[in-house]
Amino acid sequence: MAGAIWAVCDMVDGLPTRHGRELATLTWALGRAASRPTASVLVGPGASAAADAIASHGPDVLAVDADPGERPIAAVTAERVAALIRERQPAYVLLGTSDDGRDTAGILQALLEWGALVNVSAVRWGDDGPVAEVSVFGGRLVTESRLTQDHGLIIVRPSAVAAEAAERPGGVERIDPAPGADLAPVRVVDRVGEASAAVSIEEATVIVAGGRGVGGPEGFGVVRDLADALGGAVGATRAVVDSGWIGYAHQIGQTGKSVKPQLYVAAGISGAIQHKVGMQTSGTIVAINKDPDAPIAEFADMMVVGDLFEILPRLTAAVRARRA
Ligand SMILES: Cc1cc2nc3c(=O)[nH]c(=O)nc-3n(C[C@H](O)[C@H](O)[C@H](O)COP(=O)(O)OP(=O)(O)OC[C@H]3O[C@@H](n4cnc5c(N)ncnc54)[C@H](O)[C@@H]3O)c2cc1C
Repeated sequence: MAGAIWAVCDMVDGLPTRHGRELATLTWALGRAASRPTASVLVGPGASAAADAIASHGPDVLAVDADPGERPIAAVTAERVAALIRERQPAYVLLGTSDDGRDTAGILQALLEWGALVNVSAVRWGDDGPVAEVSVFGGRLVTESRLTQDHGLIIVRPSAVAAEAAERPGGVERIDPAPGADLAPVRVVDRVGEASAAVSIEEATVIVAGGRGVGGPEGFGVVRDLADALGGAVGATRAVVDSGWIGYAHQIGQTGKSVKPQLYVAAGISGAIQHKVGMQTSGTIVAINKDPDAPIAEFADMMVVGDLFEILPRLTAAVRARRA
């Protein structure tokens, strides 16, 4: 497998995340463009059972059923992946910008002394290696970067590609590499579930997002009601997260998450470039705004001009009536 391209895919509750499946699809596409072998690496409890789900995206799967016990999963993943990299010598390893993905990447960099391209929004195969796109200056420019060595890590944002099944699934290898590192002992002392994250914005097919137009934390009530009625998740702009109206887990944009739902309802959101870069690839964008000249009108598929406090409750009632 020397020279291969790998993806390290996150799992949640024993299943690969959508972001993980996107990385597998991207790795498969890069492997074909570069004529190099590919693999998806899954580490954690239930990795073997989840392997077939990720194999459907094309790359072969290396499944490591490691139990983290009280240790952070990123540390357990990094030491196993470092051992595998030393043994099999892939050239490029893609990871996600999730919390675990970033932690794993940081430890891998330290263990392997590999360079990394971070916050990458797209990757293609260039003449002799991967070329990564990174959005800079608040989304006003997109740069192209290459690694200066013939190996390295590439940390990819969600929604760089859509997860797709390949024409044939990859094979699955169940392995148990000895941890190739002696990491400082870190113990997880508590796990806190976020109360309002019933549907996570990364996985949601519908997002109803609120901006400064909701007026305050209580203004998110009408946003949540519509999200619940549509079976979707609640998103937010940085302005409202910085104001403490809702948690950072909901923030969409340059310094938040990138999302790609089928439907994105933006209520009281002006459509600043830093917000746009995180949601512009959504299927259908519906904006509700008092100001017909708000920048979001330029890229929304539908603009409803009016007060969100009048429109959202009526929309919610209409959705509930249809579903009753
Ligand atoms: C380096 C950097 C990184 C950033 N990262 C992000 C990021 O990740 N995500 C992000 O979102 N922003 C980010 N920002 C901030 C961004 O520039 C904007 O300030 C922010 O997106 C604006 O949020 P908003 O649309 O909620 O607020 P505003 O721009 O204030 O817009 C509020 C909108 O609500 C409308 N409105 C008001 N009342 C109502 C009502 N009752 N009914 C209907 N409409 C109403 C108004 O007409 C207005 O269009 C970043 C900025 C910088 C400099």
